[in-house]
Amino acid sequence: MSKEKEVDVCIIGSGAGGAVVAYALGRAGFSVAVLEAGPRFDPIRYHMNKKEWEKNPYPFGGPPEEKAKNLYTYGIPEKLNPSYEYLRSKSKIRGFYNNTDRRKPPSIQRVKGVGGTTLHYQGEAHRFSAYGFKPKSLYGVAEDWPLGYEDLEPYYEEVETFLGVSGTNQNPFKPPRGPFPHPPHELSCASKRVKVGFDKLGLHLLPNSLNILSRPYDGRPACNYCNGCYYGCMMRAKGSMDVTFLPKAEAMGNVEIKPNSVVREITVNKHGRVNGVIYFDSKKVEKRQKAKMVVLSAGALESPRLLLNSRSSLFPDGLANTSGMVGKFFMETIVYAVTVLFTEQIHSYKGLQIDSRAWDYNEPRKENSFFGGVVFGVSALDLLGPLRYAKSLAPGWGSEHKDFMRKYFGHAINIFAIGEQLPQENNTISIDPEVKDYYGIPVAKVTTKLSKNDLEMLSFMSKKCKEIAKAAGAEEIVREFSSYDLSMISHMGGTCRMGINPNKSVVNSYCQSHDIKNLFIIDSSCFVTQGGGDSPSLTIHAIALRASDYIVSEVKKGNI
Ligand SMILES: Cc1cc2nc3c(=O)[nH]c(=O)nc-3n(C[C@H](O)[C@H](O)[C@H](O)COP(=O)(O)OP(=O)(O)OC[C@H]3O[C@@H](n4cnc5c(N)ncnc54)[C@H](O)[C@@H]3O)c2cc1C
Repeated sequence: MSKEKEVDVCIIGSGAGGAVVAYALGRAGFSVAVLEAGPRFDPIRYHMNKKEWEKNPYPFGGPPEEKAKNLYTYGIPEKLNPSYEYLRSKSKIRGFYNNTDRRKPPSIQRVKGVGGTTLHYQGEAHRFSAYGFKPKSLYGVAEDWPLGYEDLEPYYEEVETFLGVSGTNQNPFKPPRGPFPHPPHELSCASKRVKVGFDKLGLHLLPNSLNILSRPYDGRPACNYCNGCYYGCMMRAKGSMDVTFLPKAEAMGNVEIKPNSVVREITVNKHGRVNGVIYFDSKKVEKRQKAKMVVLSAGALESPRLLLNSRSSLFPDGLANTSGMVGKFFMETIVYAVTVLFTEQIHSYKGLQIDSRAWDYNEPRKENSFFGGVVFGVSALDLLGPLRYAKSLAPGWGSEHKDFMRKYFGHAINIFAIGEQLPQENNTISIDPEVKDYYGIPVAKVTTKLSKNDLEMLSFMSKKCKEIAKAAGAEEIVREFSSYDLSMISHMGGTCRMGINPNKSVVNSYCQSHDIKNLFIIDSSCFVTQGGGDSPSLTIHAIALRASDYIVSEVKKGNI
């Protein structure tokens, strides 16, 4: 096996967590190797300007042979609770999306590539609210984080400035703050139209805070409102990690990014400290990267998988797992959406993917029949071209289809909500010893079930989305998507949770393993809760900056 020069830090994964650590530790002078399983994508080669753009929502990364193999498995999907039948996903022309009495197997959306899932994300840049970190002390549910809003505030500010986040500070539902680095984007025609409904119900539809430039900044142009954020931003106006933190990190000279490098194991020495990793390069040749410290940033599915696959005589249950907590408390995405048609043209194909949000229910409310925060929003998501209309909105073929398209293209929009799923110990990522991936590595097995709390939250979301649609004067609801019977996971976390007690958590508030002082887990897996339905990446970035400061100071003190 070929060996490479020892580095100070080996980072596994270059997404929302890994990219920020690479930048921050590179800035502090560390030699850093970033091993990224996926390839580099060149934004200019994204396919928004190609004929088949609608067929491929985003790049997957990895060779096609890999995609053909199992990427993860799941147990028997849970039986649907018949009391919530009304939450089934359906479309006017297709009927039910799931005709069985069980939930569909989980569909986990992520990207393998330099920049991770931020290549594909919609650029929402949310700070969690203060109560999001203290659900146990404030409401007696779930668990408190070992840090609070005040600990992350300076890092939120630093990262927003670095990225050039746009937004409004006139949000009564968020902690008071100064102005955003850039002004908010103007609401799209579609959002303005739907806002009428929010207004009538006394809800506040506000410009979203976005990691998408509202004016040129740092050599990148402002957004051109093509609405293609989800397909990869050709303009580089969306601040995905490949056009922000990573190029700056690489330019320092002491940070090397190695694409197409799939780590299969983190190794330890006889003293129980990590000393590097074993990985496959693009030709599937096994290599070793030696390092004085390892930062694991492979995401909430792959990070616990790698830890559990890194067994040794010293750590027979996997690394960082003396608590038995690695892989536990997996949190998925609780989402509900209605697609509505308006009589008039609202040009929903232009704008930004999620340019508006309402945080009225971000803080849990006593009067609700469930606990947890919910954020409402307006999004065109998949309603940008004729193919998607044909698949789920436009009936018939030939002239019937064309007539519908002439009458309704640009008239459809989604009103949706994302809520926080409370952590449950039995929702897990474990190892499936029976199934191996393209590289011969045992895959992760996903076990996720909805609780009564999740179902009650979904009921609330469904009712409210429909009320908003009605108040806005939408002609009809033509489609409903719901986590009740489909499991569409885009925001995930919790599988290596942080905490004070080493028997109940995997890492401390600085993402340092309780068991192994030179191993850090810095990505969405360290989350304790989901912060009231807000999007996670800005919090991942802030945690990563804070953890990096800690690493620098601990190394200086000789503690690591
Ligand atoms: C459709 C969609 C829209 C979203 N929109 C938003 C949004 O608007 N705002 C927001 O805040 N969040 C959004 N998210 C969620 C957000 O993208 C993720 O929460 C975030 O990227 C997670 O960061 P991470 O560092 O944990 O993992 P990732 O960003 O997924 O990065 C993990 C990286 O590790 C690499 N990796 C994995 N295993 C290995 C291995 N064994 N060896 C080497 N490398 C490995 C992967 O290839 C990947 O590049 C969205 C997600 C999706 C799918």
